[in-house]
Amino acid sequence: MPELPEVETVRRTLTGLIVGKTIQSVTVSLPRIIQRPDDIRRFETELAGHQILEVGRRGKFLRIMMDGIVLVSHLRMEGRYGLYNSSEPVEKHTHVIFHFTDGTELRYKDVRQFGTMHLFLPGEEFNHKPLVKLGLEPLDESFTPDAFRKAIAKRTTKIKPALLNQEYVVGLGNIYVDEALFRAGIHPEHPANTLSNAELDLLYEAILTTLTEAVDAGGSSIKSYVNGQGEMGMFQHSLRIYGRQGEPCQNCGQPVEKTVVGGRGTHFCPNCQPPGGRGRLGKSDGSEKPGTKPSAKSGKKPGNPIAKKFAGKQGPEGPVSSTESTGNGVRR
Ligand SMILES: [Zn+2]
Repeated sequence: MPELPEVETVRRTLTGLIVGKTIQSVTVSLPRIIQRPDDIRRFETELAGHQILEVGRRGKFLRIMMDGIVLVSHLRMEGRYGLYNSSEPVEKHTHVIFHFTDGTELRYKDVRQFGTMHLFLPGEEFNHKPLVKLGLEPLDESFTPDAFRKAIAKRTTKIKPALLNQEYVVGLGNIYVDEALFRAGIHPEHPANTLSNAELDLLYEAILTTLTEAVDAGGSSIKSYVNGQGEMGMFQHSLRIYGRQGEPCQNCGQPVEKTVVGGRGTHFCPNCQPPGGRGRLGKSDGSEKPGTKPSAKSGKKPGNPIAKKFAGKQGPEGPVSSTESTGNGVRR
């Protein structure tokens, strides 16, 4: 399933492809994708004539913002967007087509058919399912060490399920939670409410660096994930712990283990992430090997050091121009 970095990559790609285009008509051939409004004919007619202003994101949801209407789209397991000329043959499993006035089409393909689309008036989307209960947005300026501590510190569940809960922090799935916990040296089954502030700060930085590196690499391509137009992400080559069971840990050389936490396959190093905690912190007494340091390089910085960088990339005016996006994996 695409996680935040993959959806962010799709968002950037789509920004370069569809911003500025005007929808002439919409064709839905699989009604179950359309969750709001109930009537798919209304979905089709309400979108006609609107111009796409910006492609935003909330957690793993894309927010395609138009003049007077917002489309919230979740790719779920295998949903994909692609831009085509209307003369090109429509591939199998294409369920929704947005026909633009310039003769191109945005096609939504979804083999598993789990993806969803909701239509809202601008701003209304935040007060309704599926966005209403979403938690902190890790690449936003509001994601500070303090906000993260408040969201997690009182949870009585194990830390891994707490991080997977989209009502606390959005966008983290199985892969990046394993990566972040490894980087922070925290055992996935550690109760969230017994983590120290220092451990939570390490985890905060680990989440930021993991997600940022993955976004910069264009997301992972575990299983069939590809970005908006069919190019594989590259971050899978940088995964340090996920999928590496049996291989030597990149920090200490001990075999990486795989277990099940909260029903999810979970990868961890029993040496770097000991069950009682103190994996990283316990070694800061001088016995620490160079490779066992937390990956986050900065010391204590207030606020979210990375959000600024992303803030500049959110809108259509950001560095992601259409030509860059095309280079970023666009099938035309
Ligand atoms: Zn290790």
